[in-house]
Amino acid sequence: MSRLRPAWVEIDFGALKHNVGLVRRRVGPKVRIFAVVKSHGFGCGAGPAGRAAIDGGADALAVGDPDDVREIRRAGIDVPVLLYASTTPDVAGEVVALGAIVTIHDLESLHAFAAVDRPVEAFVKVEAGLGRLGVPRKDWGEVFETASRSDTLRLTGIYTHLNAPDDADEIAQQIARYDDACRQAEDMGLPGLTRMVASSLVTLGYPGLRYDAVNPGRFLFGLVEGKWAEIDAARPVIAAVRSRVIQVKEFAAGATVGFLGSKPLERATRLAVLPLGFGDGLNHLPPLGELLVEGRRAPIIARRGIEHAVIDATGIPGVRVGSDAVLLGRQGGDEITAAELAGWLNLPVLELLPRLARTLPRQYLD
Ligand SMILES: *Cc1c(COP(=O)(O)O)cnc(C)c1O
Repeated sequence: MSRLRPAWVEIDFGALKHNVGLVRRRVGPKVRIFAVVKSHGFGCGAGPAGRAAIDGGADALAVGDPDDVREIRRAGIDVPVLLYASTTPDVAGEVVALGAIVTIHDLESLHAFAAVDRPVEAFVKVEAGLGRLGVPRKDWGEVFETASRSDTLRLTGIYTHLNAPDDADEIAQQIARYDDACRQAEDMGLPGLTRMVASSLVTLGYPGLRYDAVNPGRFLFGLVEGKWAEIDAARPVIAAVRSRVIQVKEFAAGATVGFLGSKPLERATRLAVLPLGFGDGLNHLPPLGELLVEGRRAPIIARRGIEHAVIDATGIPGVRVGSDAVLLGRQGGDEITAAELAGWLNLPVLELLPRLARTLPRQYLD
């Protein structure tokens, strides 16, 4: 790709493969891994991220946007893809045509998918306590009965998304409900459904809850924080954000600089401009943090523009047009980590990094 604007994010799919390997080691050879590459592969591209996950040993993929299914199929990946609940009943036929395993998450989706006049493979998502998407207990019977009588609708899996993995008692209550749903399915003539409840944190923290399959997402991208990150050290897939200086300007003491306000400068000041702004997924207003340039830390000042940031490079003599600047990652002996960058901007790493990956031009490292 020819890219003239020097601002980009570096994506390390070697890390994604490594992280799938960590999950494989954790769950053993028999449990299927549905690698979650939702939200455009956490910003990295659903097609290439899906490919890397499969190369790393995942058995299947899961996404939450039909367009991601399209991208995965367009990339020539033919493994099973689970589509989480994400569409309205009126487009059930078009959703089925994508070639994914669809999700039944309520009675409307059940009857819409059951009415499609061709074979449909579906997983049912049951409500176990999260309170968001999922079939509530009172409707389980209708789902299992409709599925067991249908000639076209084939129910092959049953999953839920657990709430509050920090609270083991709360998890136990949700699992009791989930197990109930699995028993009821079996009693109603649906044996052998793929059972799956484990997202990243549950995969890490609850070895007893691996059932037949797990569906970790953020862990595979190295986006797990805090105590959970200590259980298994995933490598970051969104590895660096880099740019280059496009202008350096010197101001004498006493000069006024419009975008810094009307107060004269107290000291001689060297400002450098980078072509990277809030349009790229960073924030407009302070705090803006620092970056690395010529082996030193320089603060980003004033407010970020939609396509620019200005740094105070006073006292960093090597700064010139073309100098490498690092917003995230290593330069020389120093490193700006994702936690540090996200901390400055007061955002969770899980929110910030996928946004940067989705917005900035992407450079794939391997
Ligand atoms: C996002 C998602 C997951 C994966 O969650 P992570 O915390 O990213 O591992 C699992 N199941 C469902 C239904 C999801 O939407």
